[in-house]
Amino acid sequence: MSRNLPVKADRIAEDIDALAGITEPDKPWTRRAFTPMFLKGREYLTRRFKDAGLETRIDAAGNLIGFRKGRESKGTLMLGSHSDTVPNGGRFDGIAGVITALEVARSLNDAGIELEHDLEIVDFLAEEVSIFGVSCIGSRGMLGLRPPEWLERQVDGVTLAEGISAVGGNPSFIGSRDDIKAFLELHIEQGPVLEAEKIDIGVVTAISGITRIEILVEGRADHAGTTPMGSRLDALSAASHVVLGIERIATELSRGPSHFAATVGEFSMEPNAANVVPSRVRMLIDARAIDPAVMETFADAVAALCVDVASKSGVDIAEPRRISNNPPSLMSDQVVALLEESTAGLGSTSRRMVSGAGHDAAYISRVAPAAMVFIACREGRSHTAEEWAENDAIALGAAVLYETVLKLDKQ
Ligand SMILES: [Zn+2]
Repeated sequence: MSRNLPVKADRIAEDIDALAGITEPDKPWTRRAFTPMFLKGREYLTRRFKDAGLETRIDAAGNLIGFRKGRESKGTLMLGSHSDTVPNGGRFDGIAGVITALEVARSLNDAGIELEHDLEIVDFLAEEVSIFGVSCIGSRGMLGLRPPEWLERQVDGVTLAEGISAVGGNPSFIGSRDDIKAFLELHIEQGPVLEAEKIDIGVVTAISGITRIEILVEGRADHAGTTPMGSRLDALSAASHVVLGIERIATELSRGPSHFAATVGEFSMEPNAANVVPSRVRMLIDARAIDPAVMETFADAVAALCVDVASKSGVDIAEPRRISNNPPSLMSDQVVALLEESTAGLGSTSRRMVSGAGHDAAYISRVAPAAMVFIACREGRSHTAEEWAENDAIALGAAVLYETVLKLDKQ
């Protein structure tokens, strides 16, 4: 793929290599929010934002923003993603979206184009689950959606409030934004569809809602050698039936018309000793749906499953408890159509898709029309050191952003 794009592929590759290289040396590619390595990454980005002539600041929520003034005060076109990573994985996750956004600003400069709108390039603070145990801190914060009690969260005696201050934010300021005209975020797909179908660009129409459900199974600790098999209340055996039942329910729902996935990702047992019948299990389900009705169907089926397993095994299973419940986010039909038009105009192919992963765009879409551009990543791998995306694909995505910004500016 070598074609005439309105962006410079080499400049994108150079910045992604340089920023990815700012990593904990013993575990590439790690640059977790609030760590010294993250601040080094931000220093690099700040320099590059300034090189592109952007007015650079940190907002109260701790987001790094590069500002390019428009000819008229018609509102802000915002582009961005995040520069923080999960441990060991983030060669492209996040930074591809920040660097392509920056490249749009540089390419506008190269073409001598003055937009009517202001343009903001944003590196959102802590999109990934951070050392403080919570995610999308910057995008929530920008819109006044960050739960106030989060500021008290602590790690090693440091509060999140202090963490936000340390990156240059002002945690006591709560505000929102009413000037955002549209928001675009490029991201690697983190799934296998684009590569398998050989399609250049994924245009995201919705971002899954995420519900986390806790299940507690109470059995009875007994001697593992002397308690007859027929007279045990084994919490782990019962919990195993629950886990397999959840997999069965989720598999069935995933065959329906809208995206659904559920995972028992956290699981612990007590007393976890070789010679004791397990007395207690805690598990946490992560369930993702585009259609809230499907999420309700899932939650009801899991509750019925627990009642069934409890009655057959004799253990106690408490009513499943929802720990968190984030609704799905719909992207803007209008912005989705513009992204498709831009892709076709560049002679490339696109398909609509939904995102099973959460993104900052989910929050920004609550106050402004938003949509996302996905580009293929090798074998769909992400959040791992092997994560890889071809620079040609990233550059094409940048060109789609660029063309779409020009279209949005005329509206
Ligand atoms: Zn990401």
